[in-house]
Amino acid sequence: MPIIRVALNVHVDTLFDYQAVDAHPQDVGLRVNVPFGKKLLTGIIVAVNSDTRIAVEKLKTAQIIFRDIAPLPTALLDLFQFCSDYYHHPLGMVIMNGLPGKLRGNKPVKLSAPSNDHQFHLTTTGKQVGLTSIPARQRIARRLLTELNQSDGLTSEAAKLISPTAIKLLKAWVELGWVSAMAIPATSTLKPSNKPALTQEQEKAVNAITSEINQFNTWLLHGITGSGKTEVYLHIIEQALALDKQTLVLIPEINLTPQLEAIFRARFPATHLVSLHSGLNDTQRLLGWLQAQQGIARIILGTRLAVFTPLPNLGLVIVDEEQDGSFKQQDGLRYSARDLAIFRARQANIPVVLGTATPSLESYYNALNGRYRSLRLQSRAVENAALPLIQCIDIRTHKTQEGLSEPLTQALVRCLAKKHQSLIFINRRGYAPVLLCKSCAWSATCQRCSSRLVVHLRDKKLCCHHCGHQENFPRACPQCGNQDIAPFGQGTQRIEDTLAARFPEARILRIDRDSIRRKNAWQNILQTIHAQEVDILVGTQLLAKGHDFPNLSLVGILNSDVSLYSTDFRASERLFAQLMQVAGRAGRAAVAGYVLIQTEFPDHPLYRALQQHDYDALAKSLLAERKTAGFPPYVYQALLRAEAHNIELVLDFLAQAAKLAQPLPTVEIFDPVPAPMLRLKGLERAHLLVQSSSRRQLQEFLAQWYKQINSLPTHKIRWVIDVDPLEF
Ligand code: ADP
Ligand code: ZN
Ligand code: ZN
Repeated sequence: MPIIRVALNVHVDTLFDYQAVDAHPQDVGLRVNVPFGKKLLTGIIVAVNSDTRIAVEKLKTAQIIFRDIAPLPTALLDLFQFCSDYYHHPLGMVIMNGLPGKLRGNKPVKLSAPSNDHQFHLTTTGKQVGLTSIPARQRIARRLLTELNQSDGLTSEAAKLISPTAIKLLKAWVELGWVSAMAIPATSTLKPSNKPALTQEQEKAVNAITSEINQFNTWLLHGITGSGKTEVYLHIIEQALALDKQTLVLIPEINLTPQLEAIFRARFPATHLVSLHSGLNDTQRLLGWLQAQQGIARIILGTRLAVFTPLPNLGLVIVDEEQDGSFKQQDGLRYSARDLAIFRARQANIPVVLGTATPSLESYYNALNGRYRSLRLQSRAVENAALPLIQCIDIRTHKTQEGLSEPLTQALVRCLAKKHQSLIFINRRGYAPVLLCKSCAWSATCQRCSSRLVVHLRDKKLCCHHCGHQENFPRACPQCGNQDIAPFGQGTQRIEDTLAARFPEARILRIDRDSIRRKNAWQNILQTIHAQEVDILVGTQLLAKGHDFPNLSLVGILNSDVSLYSTDFRASERLFAQLMQVAGRAGRAAVAGYVLIQTEFPDHPLYRALQQHDYDALAKSLLAERKTAGFPPYVYQALLRAEAHNIELVLDFLAQAAKLAQPLPTVEIFDPVPAPMLRLKGLERAHLLVQSSSRRQLQEFLAQWYKQINSLPTHKIRWVIDVDPLEF
């Protein structure tokens, strides 16, 4: 009796064996429904064996193997396995996290009844139906089956050519589970949109990538905002399409999909494109996923999760805005879609292109040391579109009223008079208060790890959230003696009200998480902006990304200083990327753009680099700091994160885990520390940092440690290993 090994979506790091009478070796990758405890669960068959480590008579029997869709391809199973090994997460949970919701349930999937414009494929069951089982006189049925066996998908059109009755037969076979039918997405008969002549820089980039389109390379396409990275994507996708290959395009924000989708559809009207993001319902998601799996979809555009799409014919991967933090999942399986995208490209031996105006320091470092290949676009693609002029407003001399300084107010007045649009950008990234001396800019830092200390007002302590070090408040600034040192940071409320009171005639639009929650809200907002029905936009990071607003000329930036003195060592890198991005919204077309930053630190190196549009200067100084402090990319990190109802339990668990650890020479293990945001959703959280200069040794250590932590009693604790953490 065949024995199947099944990956199930349960919190145990093991695979489960079942007996299955009807299992064949080629069933690896199929879904199977099995009894588990008192429940039935659906998992994935990862092996079909003839023996097991458990006494056969103790094995339960699988309920049913689903043969409704083709098995997950080996390459995808390998990706899941890698993801499970690298992030130290149970394989079953990894797989189920990556599959569309409809494939996780206990029922086979039912696809809509076929009509015209479908493509038909044999299911696994269908492939086992021999020609001999069809009587010789049923000539049409035999021909149809032969055709299905020989082609990788038969369209309704092609079936009708065999016989007008073929469609009826196919419908019956769908009922029998022999055949699956996929709606072919409607393609447009429109002519492709015009291709602009490439700039020299774009052409160089396109040629570099396409001349090595058949091999693995990680290309860092580092181009300033407005340099026309999208046009580069379009050209290399065209090349992949010409080779009959699929392209996977990952983007950070669901809000950006409609815009990019429209651009791609206009350029490639005859190409099947699917977009996969969290805004789809389960059926839409499944359909897109299946079209990708069957090779019908040629361009797959999606957010983070789309990296787990089966792509039998993958030829190119693009990750737009590669530095964006939303490529990293922040709960459950904490994977980086960017890093997995690189894995997929290596696996398929094809190029992956990481596009960005401000590379993550990890990617920049990899380009410097030659692991990635760098392509630069240094000028804007549209003729006469200059980079915006960036200036600081020193709010120590230009006092603000309700958050607005006089120079910024005047600039808004001028902008309104010219009927140009303006954008007030409020930096609201969660930050912890730090202790700062306003007369000499000294701030309290940790001796052991040179990160900033966090003010805990209640117990009058300064704490390092990186290593656990604690100290008392100093009475005065240790650098200049000033006694007036205070926690730093200010509120951001009521800016919209202030603007409304100051400019009663202006049409003001506020854009934040709340205002875009409704369906289509985002599209309506973009329409309003493009129709010039708004004068002043007020918004947070949501507005910063990727959008093209041709009439926007002024950007005002408030509250960015809080990120200069954040406790998070990545805060400067993120602030710079964000300000570059938001500044890039100004002056994209014929309108000149300028950016005003309200700050108490106009001479800060970050603002100076920003004013000069000099990413490299800032990146190099940040890299030097990271090297001295021993932070990524010079070390590799992982966090053991844990949470429970009470912090004592959590810290106790982490201490036990630390005791089990058997460090390798390069691996450093720090003390457990409470999370900067201690309580979240009713649970208290803490973590423990481990790091190493060697990724391999860190992985070796984690694999061993993970097994040991699994042996701890943990019923009241939830824990997870976060490899390459972005947030602490
Ligand atoms: P990025 O993504 O690099 O910020 P975009 O791809 O959005 O830049 O391009 C900015 C603008 O430049 C767009 O309006 C685009 O249509 C235009 N553009 C891109 N390439 C060219 C080109 N070769 N000639 C003329 N316009 C171009
Ligand atoms: Zn001082
Ligand atoms: Zn410290």
